[in-house]
Parts: sequence; C-alpha cells; structure tokens
Amino acid sequence: MTTVSVIGAGPAGAYAGQLLAKAGYDVTIYEEHAAVGKPVACTGIVTKVLWELVRKKKEFMVNELDAVRIVAPNNNHVDIPLHEYVIDRAAFDNCLAAQAINAGAALQTLHRFIDAKNGAITFKHKGETITKKTDIVIGADGPTSNVAKSAGIYGSREFWIGLQVTVKKKWNPNIFLTYFGGICPGFFAWAVPENSQIARVGLAAQQQAKAHFDRFLLKLGGKILEQQPGPIPKFTGRELVEKDNVFLVGDAGGLVKATTGGGIITGILSSKILSECLQTGASYSKALWQLKKELHIHRLIRKTLNNFSEQDYNMLIDYMNTPGVKKILKENPREYPSRFLLKLLLKQPKFIRFAPRILW
Ligand SMILES: Cc1cc2nc3c(=O)[nH]c(=O)nc-3n(C[C@H](O)[C@H](O)[C@H](O)COP(=O)(O)OP(=O)(O)OC[C@H]3O[C@@H](n4cnc5c(N)ncnc54)[C@H](O)[C@@H]3O)c2cc1C
Repeated sequence: MTTVSVIGAGPAGAYAGQLLAKAGYDVTIYEEHAAVGKPVACTGIVTKVLWELVRKKKEFMVNELDAVRIVAPNNNHVDIPLHEYVIDRAAFDNCLAAQAINAGAALQTLHRFIDAKNGAITFKHKGETITKKTDIVIGADGPTSNVAKSAGIYGSREFWIGLQVTVKKKWNPNIFLTYFGGICPGFFAWAVPENSQIARVGLAAQQQAKAHFDRFLLKLGGKILEQQPGPIPKFTGRELVEKDNVFLVGDAGGLVKATTGGGIITGILSSKILSECLQTGASYSKALWQLKKELHIHRLIRKTLNNFSEQDYNMLIDYMNTPGVKKILKENPREYPSRFLLKLLLKQPKFIRFAPRILW
C-alpha cells in the first residue's frame, strides 16, 4: 500500500488526508501542536462554495451574514447583500481531522516535521528525533512551509502580516464591515461579527501593520479579548507546488486569494485536485491551472486596488451602489472572479475609469 505522510492538520492537510484514506492510501497526518486547530489565526469567513466540498455542520458554525458594508475613505459606504458564513476554525479543523480519521487516516500530534530525504521523513517528537519511511509527502504545513524548504521549492515568499483580535462591544450581528484606503494601505481592514457582542477585528499589511492596527482599533473602540495574528502568503503565480514525491497544498503552496487573504476554500480545493492527480497519475502542477487562473485574477485586482488613491476608492464605492452591481456581487461567490468581472463592467461601465490603475 502506498504510504502518504501529510504534514499539518489544518483544513488543507486534513482534507487531503481524508480523500486519500478513502481512496485506499495508507495515510498519516502529522501535526506539530498537541491539539488540532490551535492557535487560531483566521477570521473564518467563508462563502457557500465551501459547502460544495465540506458538509455544513452546526458544531463549527458561528454566524451567518446578510451583507458586507464597504466603507470608503470619506466614510460613505455601500451595503452589498450576500449570504456568507463565519466558522469556528478550531472546531472546523477538528471536524475535518475527525473525518480523515473516520476515513482511515492516522493522526500523530506533537510531531514537528524537520526534513524529508531518500524516502524518509524526520520529526521532532517530545525532544526526540524520529525518522519514518514514506512514499509521498504532502506539505500542508502553512505559509512558512518547512516541507517546501526541505524540498527546495520554497522560493522567495512575501507575506502580509495579518493582525486580528476579538473585540467585545455592540455589533450588528448580520453585517460585516470592511474599510479601504489609508486606514490600511495595500490591503483592507475588517470587523466580522460572531454575534451582537463579539466581532473578529483585523487588518493585514506588508509594512507598519501594528501602527495601522492600533489606529483602527482606536477608531472602532471596544474591549479586546483574544489576539489571533498570522502571516498571509502573497500569491505570485510563480509558486512551485511539487518536486519528486513532495506536493504542497493550501498556504504551504501560497494558494491564497490576494484580494481578501482567504485561503480556506482554495486550500481545500488544492487538496481535492492533488488527491485526484495522485489517483490518476495526472500532473498536479498542470491540474492546478484553473484554480491558479482565478488566483491570478485576484492578484491583478489586488495590484489594481493598490494603485488606487483615496479619491478612487471613494468613486469605486459610489459606483458599486447600484442594484445591478449589488445583484451580481450577491449572486457570484468571490472564489471565481472570472465568472463575474465582465458582467460587472457591463452593468457599471464607469468601472472602466479605473483601467489606467491596472496598467500603472
Ligand atoms: C488574520 C487572518 C485572517 C484570515 N481570515 C481568513 C478568512 O476569513 N477566510 C479564509 O478563507 N481564510 C482566512 N485566512 C487564511 C487562512 O487562515 C489560511 O489560508 C488557512 O488556514 C490555510 O489552511 P492550511 O491548511 O493550508 O494551513 P494552516 O491552517 O496554516 O495549517 C497548517 C498546519 O500545519 C501545522 N504545521 C506547521 N508547521 C509544521 C511542522 N513543521 N510539522 C508539523 N505540523 C506543522 C500547523 O500547526 C497547522 O496546524 C486568514 C489568515 C489570517 C492570518
């Protein structure tokens, strides 16, 4: 039986483990922490696309949202109706890990991957160095992947620093807030309610993240409860995701949407694609093209937004405030921008005014 060692019990690793165990592989998932899902470094907001891959379960659902409020630098805003979900990442990760175990995979916690060579992997486990034989290694070990480093395919990575806290104050539980422009240059800031009393408040930035975050927290007010920071990989399109018997999924492969920093669904999708490729013998790098096409569009949108002035953001949010634009954004999950960008342009031709920002 082919042995598969999955490094990392996050969503991408647990999902790959589940699919491959179901397909008859001898799968072991290795996790460096004592427990799956902790520490949390995620807002846990997902679109309905997740339910095409994972069954929606009460045990990890926290909230359902009816709209996103996009706030412009001049404080004007537009509310876009949608239906999105806030999940408890620790519970979600544990649920996926349990599904992998039910499918036949083994889970080994407190195993920190060190190196893979000559068909064997080395771990640190409770102070001891241990080595195990394996046929296939799947790096699902997050943004700073040691599996990628050990295989020599880490490349030169860049990250946004994601800073997030939970904040206690009065929130509208049905709507999440996003702030664009100078409040968070190069990305955006957010407040995603868990309920009417607690929200996950954060931002990501490449530079001076802490200073921007302190200003943002001051603006919103409230009592800070828990800190949940983490790095977010910047997708470049140049990422290598395989070498010999080593494959990277999720954040380990840099497969994250540059518009939002979201990587739960893309990570799970990459695991699904890898699982199919291992079973059919198809090339994983090639099979990723469709997912990567969408990620390239996210990257182009991010680069364009990063050329926006405050005035551009004010205009953009103004232009979005039409029933036609809102309908398109409501109906089309952001995972697949190729399916709705043109529709948006046809519905709101004024968006063409931002074309120079693409080329800039
Ligand atoms: C502040 C913030 C907010 C975010 N909000 C969202 C959001 O709202 N929606 C969304 O879709 N995405 C969000 N993301 C991104 C999302 O969290 C990641 O894309 C997602 O967690 C990637 O899943 P993964 O399984 O690839 O990696 P991870 O979730 O990072 O899992 C990697 C696992 O590998 C383990 N590991 C690491 N190194 C080793 C090692 N050497 N040996 C063994 N195990 C190891 C880790 O302990 C971890 O369990 C956010 C990220 C941040 C930082």
